[in-house]
Amino acid sequence: MRVMVNGVEIELVRGDITAESSDAIVNAANSALAGGGGVDHAIHRAGGDAIMRECARFGGCPTGSAVITTGGELKARYVIHTVGPIYVDGQRGEPQLLASAYASSLRLALDNGIKTISFPSISTGVYGYPIGFAARIALETVFDFVMANKGLRSVRFVLFSERDLAVYSKALERLAKGG
Ligand code: ADP
Repeated sequence: MRVMVNGVEIELVRGDITAESSDAIVNAANSALAGGGGVDHAIHRAGGDAIMRECARFGGCPTGSAVITTGGELKARYVIHTVGPIYVDGQRGEPQLLASAYASSLRLALDNGIKTISFPSISTGVYGYPIGFAARIALETVFDFVMANKGLRSVRFVLFSERDLAVYSKALERLAKGG
């Protein structure tokens, strides 16, 4: 599924983000930037050691922020590592922190001349964020960002399962209708 917002293509696909050929892919990292499971593991495995060497220089990344490294051996030139919140009950700033993780990644992309960027579904794996809520926040944040900022050409969400893709598709349909 694909929509245009202020001249920017926003697209949902099912797939493995490590295979993306966008300028940057986003990693759902932890605040130590130490590597981990899930998509983080897949990105470091596919991109090679250069990514971890650059991560180590930052000495971590607070929840809701982002840092940028080489894409190493990936097709993508850059990896933007962002740290989403661990979901507790939704009352501990999780929505704001999740929105901030997306917005910080998009800002960093613009600042580095990146035109095309691919996101995974941040925080909805081990960090436990309910995907229906997370999808809405993710898409709303991207809509708001591209309405306010020129420079990006395409923002893709690369969802790992058909179910995740279905949830994001429903959220995007609602949002595109203004709901
Ligand atoms: P978090 O700790 O932020 O929850 P996870 O890596 O545990 O991060 O999960 C985030 C999402 O990434 C989950 O929906 C998971 O299914 C998905 N995922 C895992 N591997 C990949 C991959 N190679 N490409 C795209 N998405 C992936």
